[in-house]
Amino acid sequence: MKKSLRRAINAHCKSCVYDPHSPGMWLAQVTLCPCTDCKLYEVRPTTDAIPLSVYKYYGEKPPPDSILTLKKGPDGRFSEETGKIESRDEGAP
Ligand code: SF4
Repeated sequence: MKKSLRRAINAHCKSCVYDPHSPGMWLAQVTLCPCTDCKLYEVRPTTDAIPLSVYKYYGEKPPPDSILTLKKGPDGRFSEETGKIESRDEGAP
């Protein structure tokens, strides 16, 4: 079976950096790969759906236009405690 270049790069990056015992799914860990001088860095698979707790663990700051920042909006807030978006009404009597 022929493998696409995209799938080959994804598989290579995953095997390179993914640690199932560390926080974050493989795509989050590859997104936060610190090896900017790697030849695959610019074409590595990335995601903008990384929990703040994962950014925090790796000592990274989420980009201002990350999906979490956009989701916060006026109707909810991100709880660093639970790692979830919570509605303002949650916990109200
Ligand atoms: S960009 Fe390079 S160093 Fe980073 S995960 Fe991919 S292959 Fe590994």
